[in-house]
Amino acid sequence: MFWKTVFVILKFMSAQHANADPLVELENYLRFLKDSGYTEIPLEEDFNSLLCNRPITPSPVAQPISPPNTEVRMKKDRHDGDAAGRLQAVREEMGNCTRCKLSEGRANIVFGSGNPNARLMFVGEGPGADEDAQGLPFVGRAGKKLTEIIEKGIGLNREKDVYICNIVKCRPPGNRDPEKDEIEACQPFLLKQIEAIRPKVIVALGRPAASVLLGRKVAITKERGTWHDFHGSKLILTFHPAYLLRAYTLENRQAVFEDMKQALMELNR
Ligand code: SF4
Repeated sequence: MFWKTVFVILKFMSAQHANADPLVELENYLRFLKDSGYTEIPLEEDFNSLLCNRPITPSPVAQPISPPNTEVRMKKDRHDGDAAGRLQAVREEMGNCTRCKLSEGRANIVFGSGNPNARLMFVGEGPGADEDAQGLPFVGRAGKKLTEIIEKGIGLNREKDVYICNIVKCRPPGNRDPEKDEIEACQPFLLKQIEAIRPKVIVALGRPAASVLLGRKVAITKERGTWHDFHGSKLILTFHPAYLLRAYTLENRQAVFEDMKQALMELNR
């Protein structure tokens, strides 16, 4: 009843205003709260001001990342010094990688997607079937949930404001966890991606990503929401969206929302 009333009022207000964009944004945010299980609107001062003032500096326009080729190699010097160029150099170094056995079953390398100049970076575990087929990270069910968290939860644009990748770039067979040798083989590329992008905030999605970035076993249920320093970036740990879909409890949804709220506040500090 509470949410129904809120959305009726919003619809009425939208009908009265010529420019309803801010109301549409507000509606998206409120729908995210509702889907996350909230029965009231949290009114913490800081988060309100973040949502109202939206002081996030827009990230510079993304440069497309293409597979390595001769043309890119020739242009490499020109790109040195900018994030897109640095990232392109990492992709070029990876090439048609066969450094671990995951190369044997993959359809595509899933390098990463988003804005190389993003101030917020998400690191997941590894590509699934949809990601392997499309060569893009987080495009399946869990990907849709991540997009919802980014766009409805904290009001950012997935393509313009963030960069997303995984700890391994090729699909583990049957979606099993990546093995130690595979993680070790791929880790230099992840570190180089982070070094290329130099994000202000990194969000580790799930235990494997958190464990790789912190270099130790992480108990994600105990450690989610904790902050760490990572080579000049701030790193926060949260649940993987796939876990959220499996354990779709009010507690877990609110936990992820709280973590994202912290990440947003850190971005604006
Ligand atoms: S997972 Fe990484 S190291 Fe292994 S083949 Fe793919 S790109 Fe290379």
